[in-house]
Amino acid sequence: MWNVQPIAAVGATKVYTCPGCGLEIVPGVAHTVAWRADGIMGEADDLAGRRHWHNHCWKVHT
Ligand SMILES: [Zn+2]
Repeated sequence: MWNVQPIAAVGATKVYTCPGCGLEIVPGVAHTVAWRADGIMGEADDLAGRRHWHNHCWKVHT
């Protein structure tokens, strides 16, 4: 179970590493943020573990 939040191109201002393909997500690219909704360590820990994915990598992952 995952919480998923779409990030618009204008909201992407930092460089992230996509865990799906290991490549960078550069600023200005719309992408997807996902984090666990059912982590046993609690919500704060889940939020700290948020990951940024390319949209297509997230689709392939799920
Ligand atoms: Zn990717």
